[in-house]
Amino acid sequence: MQHDYDVIILGGGMAGLTLALQIKQKQADISVAVLEKRSKKAPHAAHKVGESTVELGTYYLREELNLKDYLEENHLHKHGLRFYFSQDGNEAIDKRVEYGARNELYVPSHQIDRGIFENDLVDIVSRLGVEIKLGVHISDVDLSDEGHTVFYKENGEEKQLTSNWVVDATGRTNLLKRKEGLKKEINHNINAAWFRVEGEIDVESWSDNESWKNYINPGLRRLGTVHFMGKGYWLWFIPLSSGNTSIGIVADPRFHDFSSFNKLEKAYDWLEKNEPLCAKHLAAKKDKVLDFRILKNYSYNSTLFYSTNNWGVVGEAGAFLDPFYSPGADFISLANSWMTDLIVRERSGENVYTRTIVYDKVHSRLFENWIPIYQDKYELFDNPQIMCVKITWDFAVYWGIPSLIFTNGGFINLNILKSLFTTHNSFGERFAKLNKQVQDFYLDWGRIENKTIFDTYIDPMAVPFVADLQKGLEYIHESEEKLINKLEENLLILEKMAAEIFRVVSARIKNTPFDLSVDPYKVSLKLNKEELIEFGKAETAHALDKYMANAISALWLKEKVII
Ligand SMILES: Cc1cc2nc3c(=O)[nH]c(=O)nc-3n(C[C@H](O)[C@H](O)[C@H](O)COP(=O)(O)OP(=O)(O)OC[C@H]3O[C@@H](n4cnc5c(N)ncnc54)[C@H](O)[C@@H]3O)c2cc1C
Repeated sequence: MQHDYDVIILGGGMAGLTLALQIKQKQADISVAVLEKRSKKAPHAAHKVGESTVELGTYYLREELNLKDYLEENHLHKHGLRFYFSQDGNEAIDKRVEYGARNELYVPSHQIDRGIFENDLVDIVSRLGVEIKLGVHISDVDLSDEGHTVFYKENGEEKQLTSNWVVDATGRTNLLKRKEGLKKEINHNINAAWFRVEGEIDVESWSDNESWKNYINPGLRRLGTVHFMGKGYWLWFIPLSSGNTSIGIVADPRFHDFSSFNKLEKAYDWLEKNEPLCAKHLAAKKDKVLDFRILKNYSYNSTLFYSTNNWGVVGEAGAFLDPFYSPGADFISLANSWMTDLIVRERSGENVYTRTIVYDKVHSRLFENWIPIYQDKYELFDNPQIMCVKITWDFAVYWGIPSLIFTNGGFINLNILKSLFTTHNSFGERFAKLNKQVQDFYLDWGRIENKTIFDTYIDPMAVPFVADLQKGLEYIHESEEKLINKLEENLLILEKMAAEIFRVVSARIKNTPFDLSVDPYKVSLKLNKEELIEFGKAETAHALDKYMANAISALWLKEKVII
């Protein structure tokens, strides 16, 4: 049956526009239309959130979509994620535990002005022949085996178009998810408010303390995504290439009622109370506020991402978890890459039925396994010791496994997916189990030990194997076998890291021997000393590893543990 387009993309935000670009770059003769509500150019800065990219999403934009030169020229080079932990009163930045890379990072990332980016993407994809319809409102979609029909309003007139594929990229409108009843709740309830202010804000200028300034190469602090951390909340500062700054408050309602920061005036009061130094520097910008937005209980999941009837959901039209580590663009990259692969293969005559089911299952599992990273963790945000360890663990997990699979095309390789995820006790199962066990351990640790430590600098890149995991994520392995071997090697590093962290904490809290052997899949502070010693006798337990113990000693705030 003849359709108006091969693919219609509903919504032209970051997910929809990058998907259009990816499809066109993979196969130029596929006809693609993007239908977007916005009728005018997007404003600079005060457009959308999703400004800070991390490694996986950055790799997608720079390497998969060939936007490297564009990003270098039009957006800021980011200097990683930086964290400042609460100190009595939060009035002096140089007295807080600071966590972040001291030197320039090996793998790049960017701070993206979303207004500029979406305007430019419209031009880029239009040049490739994508039909962009701005100022149209999609009202419905009729999904059918014979082809889909999209109904929309343009200049007050009801219109319709047909296509072989439909992809929902309408963000929180969740057009297809609502229609098909796919929404799945997540037990993670967090609220956010954000605004942009005119002009740059450089946290480095907030102290005259020369030795504090010199911890890090000049100029790099400003380029990071800066997180100010406290009990149940974090606050972001993100610089934008338009010369403006994005600021957001994200908090767990168990600790900070949303009504205490859901209006601009209230947000300023909230800052005054919880982050007075930030409030002091923002006071001067009160008449330079460009916008103010809020989002209540922002997380949700989807029961389906890719349908065997030639449709799918990408970006926030699918699922959204938590912005703490800026992973929005990562999930866009993953979903777009799966979606593009299905569309291009089907267009070449391949039956993609099984592949669709596999991609859908892997996406769901990956997302589910990501949940424990954030769930209930806001209660730990004021604990610098636990968070310095946890953040490093989360980086190691992220760089060593999903990012490496992505950069090596593993998520669209059925052999790799089969080998990693389908067998009993598969790599995927072990990885998920290990991460969940370690994340639960952090919660137990936080409920037992609550130390506040001031005035220390922690650089995750000072842990050599962590720096290697970051460096390694861009390395392309020659064969499927080599990639799988590398992933197993990285999982072993994670097991050892878990064992070494636990050994130190358990010795301190449970009085277990310092050279206790530790089964990383059983780390738990719910066990007593005798049980921990007994578990240490298991075949899967790791004996003390001096190299690992010394390497992670960089993460202990006060008592370094050098062997
Ligand atoms: C508080 C917070 C902070 C975040 N920070 C980060 C971050 O630092 N880094 C990061 O990577 N991600 C971040 N994210 C996630 C990021 O915002 C999203 O991943 C990203 O914006 C989603 O893009 P999208 O294209 O799916 O949706 P959108 O950008 O919302 O695009 C959807 C488009 O669909 C259009 N549309 C909707 N309905 C219709 C309709 N009926 N007809 C026509 N058009 C329609 C809209 O106009 C819109 O342009 C954050 C999210 C939150 C909530």
